[in-house]
Amino acid sequence: MHDTRHLPIVINDSTLRDGEQAPGVAFRLDEKVDIALALEAAGVDEIEAGVPAMGEAELEALRAISERLTQARAIGWCRMTEADVDAARHSGVRLLNLSIPLSDRQLRAKLPGWSSPGRVLEQIGQVVRYARGQGFEVSVGGEDASRTDLDFLCRVTVAAEEAGARRFRFADTCGVLDPFATYAIFRRLCAETDLELEFHGHDDLGLATANTLAAVRGGATHVSVCVLGLGERAGNAALEEVVTGLGQLMGIESRVNLAALPAVAERVASASCRAIPEGKAIVGSHAFTHESGIHVSALLRDPKTYEALDPTAFGRTRRIVLGKHSGRAAVGDALRGLGLAADESTIALVLAMVRAHASRMKRVVNASELYEFYVRAAQAAGAATRDQARVARA
Ligand SMILES: [Zn+2]
Repeated sequence: MHDTRHLPIVINDSTLRDGEQAPGVAFRLDEKVDIALALEAAGVDEIEAGVPAMGEAELEALRAISERLTQARAIGWCRMTEADVDAARHSGVRLLNLSIPLSDRQLRAKLPGWSSPGRVLEQIGQVVRYARGQGFEVSVGGEDASRTDLDFLCRVTVAAEEAGARRFRFADTCGVLDPFATYAIFRRLCAETDLELEFHGHDDLGLATANTLAAVRGGATHVSVCVLGLGERAGNAALEEVVTGLGQLMGIESRVNLAALPAVAERVASASCRAIPEGKAIVGSHAFTHESGIHVSALLRDPKTYEALDPTAFGRTRRIVLGKHSGRAAVGDALRGLGLAADESTIALVLAMVRAHASRMKRVVNASELYEFYVRAAQAAGAATRDQARVARA
């Protein structure tokens, strides 16, 4: 049994492979190279860059990427066949993930003649040895591993290790796990094998990041992630969430520079023609934006009252906006930000106008609108003062 809890976790980004398999997403060669270099510059350790068997254009991209990377390692994704290994020979990539379905359901549908477990183990032994003979390093990818008998998975790791693989990738292909099950599975795998153990999770239940962190807690040494969680169907575990969660919740630092993540996310969003959802964790435009009056009045005294993450760690800044839920503290702060002094009664008038405007327009109030409200409030306050003086004189 190996205990890897104190080793750094290796971040394997699959944006260029699983991410590109997201519906409708297609990266050009220059975009692929660009994203790969941005990931490398951000400190990502491994980049799963494509599928050699897809043909010449994909091979060209794999070559372009592997030639340019100086720190990160490029990985090619193959099926567990000698033909796929052959296709990778001219990809420039030296580390292959050789994937094979393992669940009864997938085997019946995808490899009908192979229902016996022995046949699967035989294929793994044969193809891994073949790839090793060609000079490749090998990760064995267990497709649909989460719906596979755990005893059989352990036999798969033995076959992979005996044939010379260095890693087993456990794929929760359909995103059916929860963190508790994931943790238990990785404890067992960890006790049974000395292979590197990687977790690849899908987000069908919105649990991909949670499951990835649970896998690490259970002993996974490698995590497979995608920028923004881009990937098949509901996507994968998000790079930015996983590396932040590792540090924040488990005290595990990866080599990834958190401050580089927003720019990488923008790049991937642009190349995939998918806008980043405003509320997306860490990289969404509103991830560090506050409106509610109760929150803002406390935040202005101590930001940690309502921020678990420090925006500056990600190269971002806190933003306080004025809207339907704003309070006096936020209005006073915003007016001071514009260099405008206001007493409590003016602030109360401005706040009423802010709330009414935001409710009517269904958006936040901008600086020029705020200024206009201030002028109107100050005029109203002045008129009220003049009225009071007239009443007093009368
Ligand atoms: Zn996947």
